[in-house]
Amino acid sequence: MASSEALSRPSVGSRAAKRRGMMDGNFTIGRFGGVQVRLHWSLLAVFALIVWSLTDGVFPSQNPGLSDGTYLAMAVVSALVFLASILLHELGHSWVARREGIEVDSITLWLFGGVAQLKGRFTSPGGEFRVAVSGPLISIGLGVVFVLLALAGLPSAVDGVAAWLGYINLILAVFNLLPASPLDGGRVLHAALWRAKGDFAWATRVASEIGQAFGYLFIALGLVMFIFQGSFSGAWLAFIGWFLLQGARAEARYVATEQALGGLRVRDLMVRDPVTVNADATIGRIMDDVAWTHRFTSYPVLKGGRPVGLLAFASVAAVPRSDWDTQRVRDTMIPLDEVPLLTEDETAVDALAELSAPGANRGLVVDNGHLAGLLSITDLARALEVGRRPAQEPAERG
Ligand SMILES: [Zn+2]
Repeated sequence: MASSEALSRPSVGSRAAKRRGMMDGNFTIGRFGGVQVRLHWSLLAVFALIVWSLTDGVFPSQNPGLSDGTYLAMAVVSALVFLASILLHELGHSWVARREGIEVDSITLWLFGGVAQLKGRFTSPGGEFRVAVSGPLISIGLGVVFVLLALAGLPSAVDGVAAWLGYINLILAVFNLLPASPLDGGRVLHAALWRAKGDFAWATRVASEIGQAFGYLFIALGLVMFIFQGSFSGAWLAFIGWFLLQGARAEARYVATEQALGGLRVRDLMVRDPVTVNADATIGRIMDDVAWTHRFTSYPVLKGGRPVGLLAFASVAAVPRSDWDTQRVRDTMIPLDEVPLLTEDETAVDALAELSAPGANRGLVVDNGHLAGLLSITDLARALEVGRRPAQEPAERG
């Protein structure tokens, strides 16, 4: 059984990611070397599948004559060490990324292996190459160690576990080195193309197309194996193909968006000095003073001059008229810890990732605890529209 993994694209604010993580079924198991490690529920399925296939097939045929209990114990130990091996592979990426000056948000282990969430951008092809190869190098190292253990003439049960772990880690390394973006090999290819032509966006487009071609190939091959041989590996291969296809497409989209937003930052797009409301004001007061004169969809809420939340006009409108004089803004607003917080310096691409999270379509721009502005997904969409138009005369850009 093969497993894949990928370095995910940068961005997403850690708070938004945490919120999404809980909804996506991830839970944190701890921190290793300063990197948060999370597990996805789908890992339980992988674990069960590995234990089942090892207990039922691999170990009885390769290490005959042992008891059923021994096979089960061997399988559980193998599955646990394999998951630890994937974790080490991801930590390899993360530690090298840190050395290259890239912040690592978290590592998530799931159905297809691991994903390291990196924040920030590679400044050189060399940096991207070093981060990409670090994971497979760790897998190769682990594979060699386990193969040597298997050759050391240990008792049959230990020998069987070591042999399988050696095999699976080497398979993991080879698979991840396929030049199929978003796999590690795809990153290596991207770095090589980037270095050759000095054009990041072009390199991403080409690497993404090759990644998509691998995706289609795996899906086709997997379906053929599944339909004509009834082989379960076929279904697995098709799944991995689908995952590659989605990942490679996302890469191409990301770069297209990044180009359209061309170096813009939050400060270039945000609404400065938005109309604010007081946390202690009643809803009736807001209706009289603010809502009828400025028909905005949302208002930053201040208390003692500091932002404490965001008031959506829709939720004000939903308050029954009889409660207008008793209900206050602070009871109706979205509290600050549920509002995406942006900084003026943040790139528009990163802000887009934060505001694309479910339920978060506008964020507060905060500077040293003070409100600097308001940015909505609509402001970003407008900038994207402008950026995607064919190049205009510089004079028209303003
Ligand atoms: Zn990797």
